[in-house]
Amino acid sequence: MPRQFFVGGNFKMNPATREAKIALAKTLNDATIDQSVEVVIAPPAIYLIPLQEALRKDVKVAAQNCYFKTNGAFTGEISPAMLADSNIPYVILGHSERRTLFHETSQEVAQKTRAALDAGLSVILCVGETLAQREAGETAKVVEEQLEPVIAALKPEDWSKIVVAYEPVWAIGTGKVASPAQAQEAHLNTRSFLSSKISKEIGESTRIIYGGSVSGGNCKELSTQPDIDGFLVGGASLKPEFVNIINSRQ
Ligand code: PGA
Repeated sequence: MPRQFFVGGNFKMNPATREAKIALAKTLNDATIDQSVEVVIAPPAIYLIPLQEALRKDVKVAAQNCYFKTNGAFTGEISPAMLADSNIPYVILGHSERRTLFHETSQEVAQKTRAALDAGLSVILCVGETLAQREAGETAKVVEEQLEPVIAALKPEDWSKIVVAYEPVWAIGTGKVASPAQAQEAHLNTRSFLSSKISKEIGESTRIIYGGSVSGGNCKELSTQPDIDGFLVGGASLKPEFVNIINSRQ
């Protein structure tokens, strides 16, 4: 079975107003979208429900984070059960900004991933190395170390609900996109790692998407790489060029 191309838009803590977000939904609603692509956008949590209501039905929404507990005294957190209860199908976990700014460890990311799956959510699981790690030749090692606790926490059948996002930290928000060859190499290594650690079938079927300064200008070439199954887009998901990224394989 071919892997379905996946394009996610990570709005992060943008744009500032509700109107601006509804305008982004309208741009998507009015666009011609390649129907073979799974499209998911991740606004800040407070806008998940209004955006889901405003969006065409073939575009899904994702939370940008969640906690691993179901409910209780955890001020400021949202549980996977609450997302599921609000019909939010996806959650992004382990984004580099959460790992760096909010000190989330790979163990915590694995715990959250387990909890999200238990609640019935699908997960966009982010991994990736810093520039220093890449320059030290540690890219594969870092990605493997980030994946290992998740592999330990998941059963093989859980992997159909995981999309792995390879996002080199040095490419996120910097305008310095990985070259198609660099991204392909990291994706192939990641796929081989999943194959060896879980099974060949899961290695072959798991979607591995690329994130980090993806734009309307660079998406086409990246999309032709055999192990790149789509994109997680930050800055450009706030612009009309997001539609070109969705349609990059056309
Ligand atoms: P960027 O962000 O496209 O703005 O580099 C990607 C991401 O953080 O997911």
